[in-house]
Amino acid sequence: MQLQEVVCSNCGATVEWDGTYGKTVTCSYCGSTFLPAATALEDVWLMTDPVARARYEFEGNLGGLEHDIRYEVMRGQGWSDRDRAYVAEVQKLEREGIVRKAASFWAVSPHPPIYVAMQDGVLRLGESLCTFHRDEEIVWACPMTRDRFGLNSPVLIGDLQDETTQRLCGEMVNAMQGRMPSST
Ligand SMILES: [Zn+2]
Repeated sequence: MQLQEVVCSNCGATVEWDGTYGKTVTCSYCGSTFLPAATALEDVWLMTDPVARARYEFEGNLGGLEHDIRYEVMRGQGWSDRDRAYVAEVQKLEREGIVRKAASFWAVSPHPPIYVAMQDGVLRLGESLCTFHRDEEIVWACPMTRDRFGLNSPVLIGDLQDETTQRLCGEMVNAMQGRMPSST
């Protein structure tokens, strides 16, 4: 198990955390107990479409999804700068009306939202430029998806296929990947 660091809410010391959702941490410096800060927890959901998350919650398997995101998707690390840059960039394009959020999300954990290009455009990730054309779909690509499609950037652009089952990343080895509707 890969330990992460959280800041004690009482004394501000940095203490180790096993990443377990909703379990209190005891500070090794001041001895107080606390739940890891909301920001540390919400960070896990950075890439997840809220509808997908709600479905897992409804099925009583939110912990399973969270574990999958932490250890299969994030691989015990935080999101990379490029992952965060993708989120900031796609949200900017959405505000500018260049892309819109589709009523579907990627079928594989962490189930990122899918965006549709309203016009031709460019998504900038630091030095790299990902061009897209009107009506193409854009989704964040997890490390496994990057490997599979030989992508240099954490973004997949194209015509994504429809899927009907929601899967965890750890289950997808020989599975097809695609999107699934968030509104039915
Ligand atoms: Zn403390």
